[in-house]
Amino acid sequence: MRGITDYTLAKRAVINEFRRGGLTRLDICDAQPELMRAARNIGRALKRTCPVCTCSTLREVRYVFGDQLKDLSGRVVYPDNWVSELVDSYDEFRCYVVEVCIECSWNHLAACYLLGRSFAG
Ligand SMILES: [Zn+2]
Repeated sequence: MRGITDYTLAKRAVINEFRRGGLTRLDICDAQPELMRAARNIGRALKRTCPVCTCSTLREVRYVFGDQLKDLSGRVVYPDNWVSELVDSYDEFRCYVVEVCIECSWNHLAACYLLGRSFAG
């Protein structure tokens, strides 16, 4: 995968700030209804527990963005074979991985990377 950006450090900073009391749950558990719905219905379950409420309710949702995708830009990608289909059909697009807790609405961008024919092989 090309152009991969890992947001683990940024996430850790937010969580640390929350634990220190600098941020409240209201500040960081603000998933939009649409994101919550996507996480609940088609999100991939993660083994880790939620860093905020410690429940085993973490889900991962992937979005794709790109000019070439036109109407598909901004859509949630599910399942995996749809990603492969997009990779075969478009030269370049960006995939955002968002971590969401369906219990407390914690959400954070986990990673972002480029996909498409330009980067295959
Ligand atoms: Zn949670």
